Amino acid sequence: MQVFHLPHEVCCRDRCACADVAVFVAAENPRTGERARKRVVKRVPGSITFVARERKENVPAALLES
Ligand SMILES: [Zn+2]
Repeated sequence: MQVFHLPHEVCCRDRCACADVAVFVAAENPRTGERARKRVVKRVPGSITFVARERKENVPAALLES
């Protein structure tokens, strides 16, 4: 079995298949030094999993090049 991750920078040239996920990070305000939770939206890349000997149709071209 093999899992291929599809990083946004490599695989999302003309269409993006990533999911937007909101995460909360602790960020320090550079002016006040106050720590606050900040909402950041991250792009989470998709992945394709192949089981042994599996063949898939319509695999993204960027994956084949990687
Ligand atoms: Zn993307």
